[in-house]
Amino acid sequence: MSTTPVYPARAIVDLDAIRDNVRALRSTAGSAQVMGVVKADAYGHGLAPAARAALAGGATWLGAAQTREALAVRAAVGPGPRVLTWLYSPGAPFADLVREDVDVAVAGAWALDELADAARAVGRAARVHLKVDTGLGRNGIMPGDLPAVLDRATALQSEGALTVVGVMSHYALADEPDDPSVKMQTHAFDEAVRAVEAAGLPIEVRHIANSAATLTNPAAHYDLVRPGIAVYGLSPVPQLAVPGDHGLRPAMTLEARLATVKRVPAGHGVSYGHAYTTTQDTVLGVIPLGYGDGIPRHASGGSLGPGGPVLVGGGVDDVAAPDAGLGTARVLRIAGRVCMDQVVIDLGPYAPEQAGDVVTLFGASDGLTRAGAPNAEDWAQAAGTISYEIVTRLGARVPRVYVGTAGRETAGE
Ligand SMILES: *Cc1c(COP(=O)(O)O)cnc(C)c1O
Repeated sequence: MSTTPVYPARAIVDLDAIRDNVRALRSTAGSAQVMGVVKADAYGHGLAPAARAALAGGATWLGAAQTREALAVRAAVGPGPRVLTWLYSPGAPFADLVREDVDVAVAGAWALDELADAARAVGRAARVHLKVDTGLGRNGIMPGDLPAVLDRATALQSEGALTVVGVMSHYALADEPDDPSVKMQTHAFDEAVRAVEAAGLPIEVRHIANSAATLTNPAAHYDLVRPGIAVYGLSPVPQLAVPGDHGLRPAMTLEARLATVKRVPAGHGVSYGHAYTTTQDTVLGVIPLGYGDGIPRHASGGSLGPGGPVLVGGGVDDVAAPDAGLGTARVLRIAGRVCMDQVVIDLGPYAPEQAGDVVTLFGASDGLTRAGAPNAEDWAQAAGTISYEIVTRLGARVPRVYVGTAGRETAGE
């Protein structure tokens, strides 16, 4: 890693935080195993390093939505850890999945047939998880359709083309643990498990819990839990708890170096549409990050909303630029429109900042980042979304810089 701060903006990803978060989730999950969910490039954190760090924390399974992601996970971690994929359309690369020892969740009979064809061609049984819709109303087998799917599955299993190893489902309102739908879905899940067992298919793992259910609902743990957002140290239930309440810490810090700092007079419009106008003679700072990098345009400020928060000044415990940014620490809000490549902040009339100084959009607040940095949840609130979207949409243009050692030296520490 270069120690020269030549980046305009970067995301620092703390692999030890990912490891420690998985450790915390393991202890919460009790006897259940933990699947680290690393879909969508590990929620923007980087699939391969995040997957290895999750294994270092004790995850025994890794989960991805798409098949190509699952194959990338296998390539990153090698043989051994179980890998599950659950979202694809007809014509998916089932032969590759079977060959690479990836478990496949099935939500309809057509997928059993395609998977069995691939397994025959590869010459090895496919491992299947039956994905049941217990009330989410999304992907999954409706309970009424389960008997027909089980007929097909038992036939293919006795032929040796596949082995049903799991039954899985997903909650609609896991983040509202007291909602009656949670208990209703758990009940429907138990019924589905009974039906699969009654069909003569012994089940290795029953799993239904995402992060919210893992952290708030022990009755949902079963044999395996599937946390995603919590692995990255963000709260799945921000209205109930901050990450620290669950022993989690955010893994990603997003920072940038001011591209321009300049003095403007009072009454000067700022950015497209002039949604912000200076009220005094002041200093503007330009941050080289915009919606092309995943900064939500809904986080625009001035007359458009509160604006996304940015920590400016205060000296920097920055890993690459220890001497940058010596002004008073303060959290400022985006002034005016978020553009494709840049946003502007009003640094105030006495700003000592200079071009090149580091500002932090959100951070871990654990020593890697300057104390008092906003977090991804603050950005979610400013943009009317959830923290998932803030980190996951961070664009490919923003380099990820990895700190920490988890998952880097030994594969199965
Ligand atoms: C994304 C996903 C998860 C993880 O959800 P979080 O809320 O991020 O914990 C678990 N299971 C399935 C099926 C998913 O699609």
